[in-house]
Amino acid sequence: MTETATTIPSTDELVTRVADASAAWAATPYAVRARVLRAIADALDAAGADLIAIAQEETALPQPRLQGELKRTTFQLRLFADVVERGEFLDVRIDRPDAEWPMGAPRPDLRRMLVPIGPVLNFAASNFPFAFSVAGGDTAAALAAGNAVLVKAHSGHPRLSDATAAVIAEAAAEAGAPADLVRVVHGTQEGIAALQHPAIKAASFTGSIAGGRALFDIANARPEPIPFYGELGSVNPAFVAPGAAASRAGEIAEGWLASVTGSQGQLCTKPGVLLVPAESGIVDALRGAPVPSPAPLLNDRIAQGFVQSLEALSGNQAVSVLREGEASRAQQPEATLLLTSAEAVLDDPELVTEVFGPAGLVVTYTDASDLERVASVLEGQLTATIVADEDEADLEIARRLVPVLTDRAGRLLWNQWPTGVSVTFAQQHGGPYPATTAPTTTAVGTASIARFLRPVAYQNFPAALLPEALRDENPLGVPQRIDG
Ligand code: NAP
Repeated sequence: MTETATTIPSTDELVTRVADASAAWAATPYAVRARVLRAIADALDAAGADLIAIAQEETALPQPRLQGELKRTTFQLRLFADVVERGEFLDVRIDRPDAEWPMGAPRPDLRRMLVPIGPVLNFAASNFPFAFSVAGGDTAAALAAGNAVLVKAHSGHPRLSDATAAVIAEAAAEAGAPADLVRVVHGTQEGIAALQHPAIKAASFTGSIAGGRALFDIANARPEPIPFYGELGSVNPAFVAPGAAASRAGEIAEGWLASVTGSQGQLCTKPGVLLVPAESGIVDALRGAPVPSPAPLLNDRIAQGFVQSLEALSGNQAVSVLREGEASRAQQPEATLLLTSAEAVLDDPELVTEVFGPAGLVVTYTDASDLERVASVLEGQLTATIVADEDEADLEIARRLVPVLTDRAGRLLWNQWPTGVSVTFAQQHGGPYPATTAPTTTAVGTASIARFLRPVAYQNFPAALLPEALRDENPLGVPQRIDG
């Protein structure tokens, strides 16, 4: 039955239904879990044309970008299905009893594995209506881990959120999932009420620092605080060493501009700041390089935020305009580039701030040691990029920079740009606050599943009462780490 205005369940009822589904889903065999994830992927692919048409209307993102994003989304669901089948994500550890354990007391029989954390609330992102929304990474990870999901729809694409949820519901039910495996709630206050609901056991979020921090505080102020995996803001600085700047100024300028303007600059991994030697030809190359035609931003709120943050930064006395984009303060802005110096950033590190949209800040330096000094005043970042040649001088600069950047960022890149985050086993999409509220985790890649799992150890248990994954005969064939 379709829900009409009078039958839309309350937030409390939605959470309760998702909690019931979560209990049933946690007990569903891993093989069925994988089958359901694949069925959802197939159904989303089949409904792709309809879903993309709605997404275009609601987000103004172009069709090729949305097609690519849907492909990434369904690939992700299938990859996570493979992970569920292989069983490594359970991190099974079995320590058999050892009377001679050198600790000084006998070691008991201990068997540890990861179990589903419980119902998850996912605050969907505005800028990825597929890959970080109802069927996106957080939902896929939570489902793979064995939890049902309530998605707080982003107000920027409400119809797409409902349409995606309807496709998921039908496919999941046909493949053997419990009803209400993935549900959607709309409204800012409803999102807060769901986050405060005692049945919710973890939450994920992609969006602004202000919004993410407010919700993180709510999650922590609950009588029972819960993990809140917030992916917030990042500037993703790129450091160009003198050798590379001298040997390939034009290529660096074009590569950076393409990364800064991709998806109209509305990406959390946009390399918003580029540090270059003052003497290099990069600044001139940037003045003349081609930029994409003006295009609309995701929604009015993002457009207003872009104008405000661009005006604040360009209004700073230490910042000049390197290149003003056409209609740079309107709904369809062309890229704008700003210019400042490393000295100014060292005086006021807040110049390194996120401008969400098609804009970037070029920072000139006069001494290569400035790179390290600027890196050391940065806040937490999702990524940091080094552009350098492999000659001794550039490598020496990079050698000094890497430890500082390792301290500040979740992913370091060498001669590649950070946009286009691949979904893989080794991917890391996270970083120290304010890039995320949970620096020990990733929001992308198969390691993201671990966010929605919780370890439990069974001591001295009879085999008949142990989960199958922990039994000696290992009927599921999952990887078991035995006696270390
Ligand atoms: P947002 O304003 O943080 O909103 C994200 C989600 O959180 C929405 O569902 C929103 O609800 C909810 N929310 C925000 N503040 C809240 C509060 N105080 N209490 C309860 N719920 C709250 O993010 P956005 O709309 O995507 O974009 C705004 C800015 O976020 C951008 O300009 C950019 O700076 C940043 N952003 C960052 C990323 C990233 O990947 N790190 C991605 C997108 C945007 P409603 O929709 O109901 O208001």
